[in-house]
Amino acid sequence: GVMGGTLYLDVPNDLTAAQFTKRMRMPIMEALAKVPQDEAPASTFRVVVNPELIESADSEPEPEAIPATMTAAQTFTLPRSPLEEPVEVSSAASRTDTRLNPKYTFDNFVIGQSNRFAHAAAVAVAEAPAKAYNPLFVYGDSGLGKTHLLHAIGDYAMSLYSGIRVRYVSSEEFTNDFINSIANNRGSAFQARYRDVDILLIDDIQFLQGRAETQEAFFHTFNTLHDHDKQVVITSDVPPKHLTGFEDRMRSRFEWGLITDVQAPDLETRIAILRKKAQSERLHIPDEVMEYIATVVSSNIRELEGALIRVSAFASLNRSNLDMSLAQTVLRDIIDQDDANVVSPTDIITATAQYFKLTVDDLYGSSRSQSVAIARQIAMYLCRERTSLSLPKIGQLFGNRDHTTVMYAYKKISDLMKERRSIYNQVTEITTQLGRNGR
Ligand code: ADP
Ligand code: MG
Repeated sequence: GVMGGTLYLDVPNDLTAAQFTKRMRMPIMEALAKVPQDEAPASTFRVVVNPELIESADSEPEPEAIPATMTAAQTFTLPRSPLEEPVEVSSAASRTDTRLNPKYTFDNFVIGQSNRFAHAAAVAVAEAPAKAYNPLFVYGDSGLGKTHLLHAIGDYAMSLYSGIRVRYVSSEEFTNDFINSIANNRGSAFQARYRDVDILLIDDIQFLQGRAETQEAFFHTFNTLHDHDKQVVITSDVPPKHLTGFEDRMRSRFEWGLITDVQAPDLETRIAILRKKAQSERLHIPDEVMEYIATVVSSNIRELEGALIRVSAFASLNRSNLDMSLAQTVLRDIIDQDDANVVSPTDIITATAQYFKLTVDDLYGSSRSQSVAIARQIAMYLCRERTSLSLPKIGQLFGNRDHTTVMYAYKKISDLMKERRSIYNQVTEITTQLGRNGR
């Protein structure tokens, strides 16, 4: 469909996206260009990979078309003059840099019981690339320092070995890059980008779940690097054996080297992280306040930092003293929410099914009737809102759907709640129901 001047085309997988784009880019761009400017419903088009198209090929119209901003997608923008080449938006970033974030170093990584082993393995790999553990596979829940460790390896290795070639890439970027390279006949540049490196740091590999062609490309990249004694470091939200939608040969390669996890930090580590953060941001925060924050925000370091920032921002905006009572006031919402937040996804799905007079299997299943689809999206929304499950995990729960589907459901329901009283009421009533049933 057309949205915001962009024509969206859904295809079932990466390879179709690439081939379609390759063959159809020029004809579509030309057709769009012929429509007079003021009538043109769209000046650009995007190919969107929507794995659900396979299962719904011959059922009802697709109610869950995923906006391209949320998934592997390619954008082509109409040239301003007919002489200019189409601009490829998703490859605008520089190809030559390492893409390392200088904020994430070993120096500002706080070591505790929860990450001691992962940290030691990461240091070992940076000090002796391809000689210590290859690959190094780090897994753990969101917000526990995986990305930080990945960048720190690159940063440290570059300080030890001048001229070493390091490249950091998220699995999503890798996927987009792969699709673009096929579409543009630039396969060899793609290969060079990922194979002519000494250390490849690839983040959130679970993103490649169910993407057979991109996995294949990664498989070859991995083999080439490994065969040439180049280091590969991989992160994921689950250990290799729980990576569903991956080929066995991929999973077994992930197990060749060392597998380590990062866990939720204990109280002492949380306090130490806050101290370090306050120090580097030059925030003056009393010890008791830091201890308080560390006590109430316990499972996610990203949220821990967020709470610290909220408290200090509130104090400076109001020119008030940063003391315990202020911290308690500012964090009250977070804490109340946290208490009420202890709801299991099963509770949510059961309550939603009951409310809509559907079965739990309807919500897990693939029915695309409008009413089931909305109920399912509301259940996904509530799982996102009320549990700490990651997007991919919520997707898995709902019959192995892609995490972009969950993201889309979340956004759609958030939007609908503002526009449609009925949706707002439904979500509120199910939430109340959940509260009433306890946990
Ligand atoms: P993940 O990739 O596991 O989701 P991140 O690496 O993005 O988590 O970490 C989330 C935030 O917490 C980042 O700002 C990171 O710098 C910070 N962080 C995580 N672990 C530590 C640690 N051990 N010491 C200091 N900061 C940390
Ligand atoms: Mg991360």
